[in-house]
Amino acid sequence: MARYAVVTGASRGIGHAVAVSLAKDGTDVLLCFAGNEEKAKETRQACLAAFPDGTFPLCRADVGTKEGCGAILAAAEAFPSLDVLVNCAGITRDGLLIGLSEEDIDRVLSVNLEGAILLCRGAVKRMIRQRSGHIINISSVVGLHGNPGQVNYAAAKAGIVGLTRSLAKEVGRRGITVNAVAPGMIATDMTAAMPQKARDAALAAIPMQREGTPEDVAEAVRFLASDAAGYITGQVLCVDGGMGM
Ligand code: NAD
Repeated sequence: MARYAVVTGASRGIGHAVAVSLAKDGTDVLLCFAGNEEKAKETRQACLAAFPDGTFPLCRADVGTKEGCGAILAAAEAFPSLDVLVNCAGITRDGLLIGLSEEDIDRVLSVNLEGAILLCRGAVKRMIRQRSGHIINISSVVGLHGNPGQVNYAAAKAGIVGLTRSLAKEVGRRGITVNAVAPGMIATDMTAAMPQKARDAALAAIPMQREGTPEDVAEAVRFLASDAAGYITGQVLCVDGGMGM
């Protein structure tokens, strides 16, 4: 039976890899992104190569706004069902708390957390009617352990864990699973922007002594989005080479 998913942050990095891995499983995906349409089109091509029968529509929308989340949910209505939601869009605005502006705080919370809450709310309304669905929210090891210079980001990612566990308790009896994946240090544009000193320190703290790949994270998401994970809910799966132990 055909399956349908919404993936935010699908234009690059982890979201790109998640979309392609879901496509490999025969899932059509609404590819949501913020700005770079060329990159989003590359994701679409990779998804079509994996699942030629899919349509993989693009949806440019800012998940940091109510209007953007509304646009994503409206675009998803074109799918006959909504089987999987992956909240992967995320940003950082790093700096010690004393130097963070209110805008740095608000924006990181709205993109990383409030958007995920609004999209979860829209998705579960549909999934409750279907009596099935899988939601995967992308958190971070930083949300579990904290990190100096990332108070805003860590708070948002810890909020993702609270969202995930609370919603899992609300909708479990409706046949819907809600889980989080907490990546460690993954090689994407986000980590490429880190200062070398911070990258070296992070690498030294990883038992597996390497960065993860977007595909490492995508495989965990693919599992949690599959019916093979149908009795797993409210969990936080760390994909971090042991960094967060
Ligand atoms: P990335 O910067 O490569 O990609 C971010 C994606 O989010 C892009 O597709 C972008 O279009 C989208 N996005 C950004 N702001 C948006 C907005 N306002 N509205 C809609 N979409 C928006 O990042 P990534 O490394 O692939 O990260 C993906 C997720 O994984 C994020 O939630 C991030 O916090 C999380 N994460 C990443 C790492 C890592 O090491 N890379 C570690 C832990 C958690």
